[in-house]
Amino acid sequence: MSTSHHAPPQITPLRETWRQLMTSARSRAPRLRASLIGLAVAAVVQGLALACLMPLFQALIPAADWQAALPWLLAMTALMLAGTAMRWWAQGFDYRGDMVHNTHELRTELGEQLRRIPLEVLQDKRAGGVNATLLGNVDETLSYVLTIANMMATALITPVAVALAALWFDWRMGLILLLVFPLLVPLYRWRRPAFGRGMRMLADANERTSSDILEYAQGLPVLRAACCAGKRAERLQASFRHLETIQTIGQKKGAKPNLVLATVMELAVLLVVFAGALFVVQGTLDVAILAALMVIAVRFGEPLATFVLYAKVIDLIEAALGKINAMLRIAPLPQQVPAQVPQTFEVAFEGVRFGYARAGETTLRGLDVRLPTCSLTALVGPSGSGKTTVTRLLMRHADPQAGRITIGGVDVRAIAPEQLNVLISVVFQDVYLFDDTILANIRMARPEAADEEVEAAARAAHCHEFITRLPEGYQTRVGDIGGRLSGGERQRISIARAMLKNAPIVILDEPTAALDTESEVAVQAAIDALVRDRTVIVIAHRLSTIAAADQILVIDDGRLVEQGRHGDLLAREGRYASMWRAQQSAKNWHVLEPRPAFRVMPPDLVFSGGGGSGSAKALLSGEKG
Ligand code: ADP
Repeated sequence: MSTSHHAPPQITPLRETWRQLMTSARSRAPRLRASLIGLAVAAVVQGLALACLMPLFQALIPAADWQAALPWLLAMTALMLAGTAMRWWAQGFDYRGDMVHNTHELRTELGEQLRRIPLEVLQDKRAGGVNATLLGNVDETLSYVLTIANMMATALITPVAVALAALWFDWRMGLILLLVFPLLVPLYRWRRPAFGRGMRMLADANERTSSDILEYAQGLPVLRAACCAGKRAERLQASFRHLETIQTIGQKKGAKPNLVLATVMELAVLLVVFAGALFVVQGTLDVAILAALMVIAVRFGEPLATFVLYAKVIDLIEAALGKINAMLRIAPLPQQVPAQVPQTFEVAFEGVRFGYARAGETTLRGLDVRLPTCSLTALVGPSGSGKTTVTRLLMRHADPQAGRITIGGVDVRAIAPEQLNVLISVVFQDVYLFDDTILANIRMARPEAADEEVEAAARAAHCHEFITRLPEGYQTRVGDIGGRLSGGERQRISIARAMLKNAPIVILDEPTAALDTESEVAVQAAIDALVRDRTVIVIAHRLSTIAAADQILVIDDGRLVEQGRHGDLLAREGRYASMWRAQQSAKNWHVLEPRPAFRVMPPDLVFSGGGGSGSAKALLSGEKG
């Protein structure tokens, strides 16, 4: 059998698969190992039991001799029972709950890993992919292992044991059997790289489809509103078709070698019959041995012929193990020791350079800036300039390649992750509410908070009133009222969360950008309460909302191009001033369009520039006047 060397066999050696399997068996590894060895032993014992057929037939053919037959009958029975008992014990891994426990353990571990891996890395993974690994791969790996191992042992080990025993009765027949059965191995090795690749492609296709389904389902409201649900459905269809193609290829690749192997096995049985018949005619082989061997050969033909199918499952398991181990291998961000706790809350970026691993180019090109305690800093700049990246680095979704970020003089890399989390609250433009009660949704910011504290936070965030109007007040489940919460109400719930968390540093990622004017007023009031006496960073698109910030940082292409207060920046007639004018005229155009006579009026520039701590007034001034 020639091995095709064209395609590099990018398959994991079986030894590695074994190692990965034992790694994912976690605390149950010794049990799993014992069970697998148990199955192998059971297969040997079963082979020996079948080999008893040879002396048994000798005792019965041609003249039945009960005295001679009885011991072999008993031996056979004893071996069969021993083999079965052994198999039962080994399979106990499945039915005694070890397997389920193991699956649970592995899933928990992967869940914890999800919390540890840098968010930047996680962001690159699609939710569906993570879902496929945690749910599909984990089950694929462990549920099938013992079943498949049992089948493989019956297909491979038992025939070899029989063949070895046959050597004792007739060395020629034993040799023929020993030569025929191991034919499987080169045959299998020949096809395995293709199987492995096929299974990996299948795993990837499953992952992609899972992601597409998830995103489609989640985005459906938006898609419907935008009347492009159909277009997106086409994409989903494309992903289904891709899966179908991969499955078809897999079936073809699996079916053909399967047929080849089945044919080879048929021929092997014929070979045994022919050789045996020849020896019997020559008078050198007992016809009873031949009869026994025929029974045995027929008994093995089937499991051997379906061997390729089991082998495919091994590759499925292997592909799953690969995904799981890849996830477990992602290293968390390094932690500097000893861990330090900042005592003050000014934030500083010192010579920060950063590029996303995937993008391959620098996103931030040397950022030096200080955010004094209890000041409000606004980040403005064109989309893609790096504003979000600045906030992500502060939250330590990733570490900069050069420079450092400090809170109260302490490098964020020296702050324990839980501690850093306590220090920073974030209010995003998109609010994620979990399917739980409103109370729980707010409380998640500080799980130990009392009901009164949650309510106080809700009052401060201007949501107490609308919450009490809900059918079950704070106990209303978000899932039950689903779409009944307006964007502004959801936003205020998320602000209540941040209120409750009471972190000294607050990041606002354009929380009002998507709201209508009316909601915006309420949300702004909530934000004003939130940002009081804290170190705040706001990412803003609409400059009018940040005109009273303590400092405005104009970012362009990863660089700080201007820095100062609204008034100063306008006077400088630079980047900010032109952005400001562009937005003002766009606004006036929009509002005044029906009355062209007014278009020449200068934009309303009445802003309270010297906004002190820059909190309340800062965010309220502007468009809603
Ligand atoms: P802004 O918030 O100013 O719109 P971002 O900080 O989101 O800008 O993005 C800055 C640049 O980094 C963009 O070119 C963007 O494409 C890139 N970028 C953002 N997130 C990632 C990511 N997870 N992986 C790779 N590149 C990213």
